[in-house]
Amino acid sequence: MELFDSVAKAARQLGVPAYVIGGFVRDKLLNRPTKDMDIVCVGDGISLAHRVAALLDPSLKVNFFKTYGTAQIRFRQIEIEFVGARRESYRQESRNPEVAPGTLEDDQLRRDFTINAMAVSLNEADYGRLIDPFDGQADMAAKLIRTPLDPAQTFSDDPLRMMRAIRFASQLGFTIVPETFQAIQDNAARIKIISQERITDELNKIMLSAKPSVGLDLLYRGGLLKIIFPQMVDLVGAEMVDGKGHKDNFYHTLQVIDNISRHTDDLWLRWAALLHDIGKPATKRFEEGHGWTFHGHDAVGGKMVPRIFARLKLPQDGKMRFVRRLVELHLRPISLTRENITDSAIRRLLFDAGEDLEALMLLCEADITSKNKVKVKRYLENFELVRQRLKEVEESDRIRNWQPPVTGEMIMETFGLPPGRIVGDIKSAIREAILDGVIPNNYEAAYQFMLEKAKELNLNPVK
Ligand code: ATP
Repeated sequence: MELFDSVAKAARQLGVPAYVIGGFVRDKLLNRPTKDMDIVCVGDGISLAHRVAALLDPSLKVNFFKTYGTAQIRFRQIEIEFVGARRESYRQESRNPEVAPGTLEDDQLRRDFTINAMAVSLNEADYGRLIDPFDGQADMAAKLIRTPLDPAQTFSDDPLRMMRAIRFASQLGFTIVPETFQAIQDNAARIKIISQERITDELNKIMLSAKPSVGLDLLYRGGLLKIIFPQMVDLVGAEMVDGKGHKDNFYHTLQVIDNISRHTDDLWLRWAALLHDIGKPATKRFEEGHGWTFHGHDAVGGKMVPRIFARLKLPQDGKMRFVRRLVELHLRPISLTRENITDSAIRRLLFDAGEDLEALMLLCEADITSKNKVKVKRYLENFELVRQRLKEVEESDRIRNWQPPVTGEMIMETFGLPPGRIVGDIKSAIREAILDGVIPNNYEAAYQFMLEKAKELNLNPVK
């Protein structure tokens, strides 16, 4: 590879041993697609970066940070980071260590997991040799996450590593060895010194893994979830009263997110799955003779979404509104599986869900977690019928992504009205009439309806 040849050449010219290390080596050995590349050298990483850039393409830009002794170049979409090998020591109150130049081995010792500490030599004498002091290869074969040093120290030094351990377990389908996991349980409270952005970054990587339940369950059992996302932990448990229980909403939710993850890589749809029942603890009641109910958990859950997103420093824009809308609407398609559903109910869902309808249907299908295969089949068939009805009504009425054919401006102009409540009342009366099927969805009908409605209010057209 041209890149490695250039690094090797530059390292030789400068007389500094260089190695490719960390995630790149791990992913290559696991046959996963590689992304960024980390080069560590025993010497000055910034000088090495400049020399490599000069060899590859003299016009390449080198970004460097003198204080950290790191430099980056971007070559053919690959981000290459250079750093001098270093030794680290930590203080109690910060995850930023004191650093001093060190050997390759020092540098490997500061890495978080054995599978992340492997290096490959780019030096003439042993080009291509794997340097694996903690037997990361064996852990990779056995699919294990393990810290090279004492795990308690490792996590106490930099608590973000606890999130990383769980994220790698979830992404790679690996197991965290018991001693390492125990240290997460013991040090979970230390996560408080980590910035929310970094925590959420890891959480999103967990959410994007093939089976997010793996990471979410580890977060729960490791004691991190109750600190970083307590509302999720409120879902845990199944209470019994008079011999009547309800399902454990936490494990139900994990199953729903795994289900939806088989159908979508969209982070926000996955978030909607994670939050769909978040309003259940607040609305849980035991009704005599009836059992457990969660009335209104859809609306209550929807209201919780902005606060949860704010606390987790997730976006406050359309992505949040999408998640909120799905949480609010997640029971609607189920209500349409009953018999004798009117076109008007179907039209209302088309109108309320708009362009998010397909996402909503995926969420509802993922929400089926019954173990009874016959039931699952029946529920899926019911949703298929709902999809069919939605399609038919949409084809005839075109309600989805629809704006009522008579606008507020037209109403104001026709009756010489200033903006205000009356305009809003007429507008919503027209919308309701169309959704209820009282009038067809077209301009003439809406215009006539507007005139009638106005007459009731003693309004006359100005022209
Ligand atoms: P990904 O690219 O999927 O996030 P990665 O392992 O490449 O995985 P980076 O954050 O790019 O993740 O880190 C590169 C390497 O730096 C890691 O493989 C690991 O050796 C080391 N590293 C990163 N973060 C830490 C940390 N908090 N503590 C110790 N070592 C770390």
